Amino acid sequence: MNEQTARNKLTDICKLIYDRNLTVSAGGNMSLRLNDKEFIITPSGRNKGLLRPDEMVLMNMKGKTLSDGRPSIEKGFHIALFKADPETASVIHCHPLNCTILAVRGEKIRSSLTPEGVILLGDVPMIGYFTPGSKKLVEEVAKNSSSRAMLMERHGAITQGRTLEEAFNRMEELEFQAKLQILAGNADELPASEVRKLLKM
Ligand SMILES: [Zn+2]
Repeated sequence: MNEQTARNKLTDICKLIYDRNLTVSAGGNMSLRLNDKEFIITPSGRNKGLLRPDEMVLMNMKGKTLSDGRPSIEKGFHIALFKADPETASVIHCHPLNCTILAVRGEKIRSSLTPEGVILLGDVPMIGYFTPGSKKLVEEVAKNSSSRAMLMERHGAITQGRTLEEAFNRMEELEFQAKLQILAGNADELPASEVRKLLKM
C-alpha cells in the first residue's frame, strides 16, 4: 500500500476508534502494514482523536524508525504479529471500557454467546499482566498470534486483521461481546454443535 494512503486510512480509523469510545485520551496504538518490510504506527502519547496523517511513524520490521516522530512503546507486539503471519496487515490495541472491566476482573470473553461472536472472533485468550512495552508482554502476545483477538489482564485488548477494517471490526465486535457478557449475566453460550457449524461457515 502507498504510504500516504496508509497514513490517511490509519488516521481515519484512529478517529473512529476514539469517536466510538473504544479508547480514551492517548490510550492504545494502531498500525498498518505497507509491505513485507515496513509499516506505519501511531506516535507515542498522542490523543487518538486528534492525530494527523503526517504524525504516523514509519518503521521497519527490525524496529528501526524511518520517519520523524516517536513510535508507540508497544511497537514490539505489532512487529511480532506482523512477523507471525504475512497476511496480517493491521494490529489494533486499545482500552475499551467493557473489555477492560473483564481484563481487570481476569474474566475471559465468552465469544459463543451469539453467532457473530463465534464467526468474527473465535476463541479469545486472556494474556496475563505484563508491564506495557516489556519484552515479556511481546513474547506472550506472540504466543497467541493465531488468535484474532485477545485480552490483556488489567490492561485492555488487541485485535488483528488482513485489512485495517477487519482489525477494527473485530475490536468493535469484541467490545460489544464484552458489554453483552456483563449485561447478560450468566446466560448460556450457544450449544457446542451450533458453534462447530458456525465455525465452518
Ligand atoms: Zn495499552
